[in-house]
Amino acid sequence: MRRRSGAALNVVMLGPPGAGKGTQAERFAQRHGLPKISTGDILRDAVTAGTDLGRIARATMDAGNLVGDDVMIGIVEERLARKDAKPGFVLDGFPRTVTQARALDDIMLNRGPLVVVDIVVPEDVLVRRLAARRICGSCGSNALVEWTTSCGKCGGVLIQRTDDGEEIVRERLNVYHRQTKPLVDYYSQRPTFRAIDGNQPPDVVTASLDRAICQASTVADGARL
Ligand SMILES: [Zn+2]
Repeated sequence: MRRRSGAALNVVMLGPPGAGKGTQAERFAQRHGLPKISTGDILRDAVTAGTDLGRIARATMDAGNLVGDDVMIGIVEERLARKDAKPGFVLDGFPRTVTQARALDDIMLNRGPLVVVDIVVPEDVLVRRLAARRICGSCGSNALVEWTTSCGKCGGVLIQRTDDGEEIVRERLNVYHRQTKPLVDYYSQRPTFRAIDGNQPPDVVTASLDRAICQASTVADGARL
């Protein structure tokens, strides 16, 4: 499905570790010619570029602290103001808090609708996937032995990570759900919110996401949300 010309395609992707969010965000962004904006990348860019916010972020991280809402919001606002984000963007890793979500709504005033997708995967499947997670011994790419037996990028041999034990994984998922539930509650009543079944092969998830996002943005075009 193609979006109507002129309408921006502004997307926020939510999903727990192991849901394949990063890969899906990348695919969607590429397919629609939009920048994929992940907070990790933005932080690195801002620090490298030496902007005021970048310097604050660096000092915070150097001190071993988490970058706070105000700084994150400022950095995202700066990034979204760049020209390549005008036709839209795919945000991965932001917002993480309701405060950040409210600020994003303010940033999005007069910029067209915000489509929010949540990639949903049952916890047992996530635990199994994360335990099956491998990295390529040659190029360092991530892979899941559930879907592949060798590196998709270079064909290299996949090796097991050491930090994916079941207890650690379950705790990470608990933290994620505790932090993200208020965010999902904040968005879930909107006509531009879509929950996507992430418990399917990656290509099927890609197709579902594409359909859902394009459909939601069309709905929103009429509703001006
Ligand atoms: Zn590789």
